[in-house]
Amino acid sequence: MERKQLKEVVIIGAGFAGLWALKNLSGGPVRVTIVDRNNYHTFLPLLYQVAAAEIEPEQIAYPVRTLLRGFRNARYLRAEVERIDFQGKFVECGGQKLVYDYLIVACGSVSHHYGIKGAGAHSFGLKTLDEAIILRNHILSCFERASCEVDPETRKALLSFVIIGGGPTGVEFAGALAELVRGPLRKDFPSISREDVSISLVESGKRLLGVFNEKSGAYALARLESMGIKVLLGSSVAEVTHGGIGLAGGITAASRTVVWTAGVSGAPVPGAPAALVNGAGRIESDECLRVKGADSVYIAGDITHFVQEERPLPMVATVAIQQGRHAAKNILRQIGGGRPLPFRFRDKGTMATIGRSSAITRIRGIESRGFVAWVLWLAVHIMYLIGFRNKILVMINWVYDYFFFEKSVRLILPRCCDSPGQAVCLNRERRCPECR
Ligand SMILES: Cc1cc2nc3c(=O)[nH]c(=O)nc-3n(C[C@H](O)[C@H](O)[C@H](O)COP(=O)(O)OP(=O)(O)OC[C@H]3O[C@@H](n4cnc5c(N)ncnc54)[C@H](O)[C@@H]3O)c2cc1C
Repeated sequence: MERKQLKEVVIIGAGFAGLWALKNLSGGPVRVTIVDRNNYHTFLPLLYQVAAAEIEPEQIAYPVRTLLRGFRNARYLRAEVERIDFQGKFVECGGQKLVYDYLIVACGSVSHHYGIKGAGAHSFGLKTLDEAIILRNHILSCFERASCEVDPETRKALLSFVIIGGGPTGVEFAGALAELVRGPLRKDFPSISREDVSISLVESGKRLLGVFNEKSGAYALARLESMGIKVLLGSSVAEVTHGGIGLAGGITAASRTVVWTAGVSGAPVPGAPAALVNGAGRIESDECLRVKGADSVYIAGDITHFVQEERPLPMVATVAIQQGRHAAKNILRQIGGGRPLPFRFRDKGTMATIGRSSAITRIRGIESRGFVAWVLWLAVHIMYLIGFRNKILVMINWVYDYFFFEKSVRLILPRCCDSPGQAVCLNRERRCPECR
């Protein structure tokens, strides 16, 4: 087909939804431009393992340009989307104007702090690869500094870690952090005893892992407590400060590390009509995944507010994958003169791990807990991880860790601001223990 007969499709976001849309557009009468501010796709479900120094950042990332090699008529643009003009049908990014026939908005989600004082400024996020590296470096820096700190109060704050949010990310990260502290860091820092380190998980609800049933929530609680983690249920965070947190009721806890995993909202979509964006920052879609009132604009993934059986679909990778795929198929149908079909999410299951040998899975409504669930969790994550090399390296790391209780990554890299004026400070200075 001649190039001018091809329809222009722009995809914003090379996450799960964007990539699966791209795959399903391949071979169609389209020319695709995929735009992302990062030149890599991030496998977010393993992000917490990067933050807990368990795997290398590049093992969960994959270059978008390498992914595009197999696709004819597709190109990548590394840019920040500045504005979408839904009427004029173009996207402004990186000084360019991308005119489209069809657009897929798949720009994911960001941390949401519910207006809690200081939470945005003083807590660590766990939503991007940069944030995971910053958090890992910070944790390792805290141990380095604590090992030579003489003031007991400062030392205590350096070795106190508070995780806010008892959902899957908070539970998974708390478990991984406990394993890092109990295993490799205990051996690396003989002057720091296990009792000196405190890890707290704060959850405002009455139980952990609200996406699973009560029995699974109780299982997660028992597992985390057996790992020495203090779980505070029914505790709302009122304030996060430079030196710790304040809970509703006036209780405070000193900590140099407050990690926010408690909430997400849709990523900002510049140019989206305010009337279409709901309170959770998500854009309302029609039954075919189109933005209401814009027939050539599809939305997919975390950004999409799609109601099925009277409930909005959760922000998870399986929803994003199925929506990305469906949006692409609907575009091809429209180009072929057909009508777009309604979307329906098929729930293939949910899972979360708590640490070595323990996980929870729910498949076809049946929940399982323990070792078999954990093996299934490992297999599914390896299956979906992009890149053969990444799969092999992550598996090697896991096997090594399982048998030798060792993590491979303990480098503070890039160097932080411990040499002011010379180093690139990724910790944005105020968050670095050396600067506080
Ligand atoms: C720590 C963590 C653990 C998780 N664990 C699980 C799990 O175990 N199982 C599960 O199913 N789900 C899990 N999730 C959720 C899952 O990762 C998301 O639901 C999924 O990534 C959503 O896919 P998406 O394509 O909508 O967005 P994303 O994967 O977030 O991709 C969005 C892309 O858009 C780009 N982008 C955004 N705005 C712009 C802009 N203005 N300009 C240019 N580019 C832009 C971003 O750089 C990004 O690459 C987890 C999420 C996190 C953060």
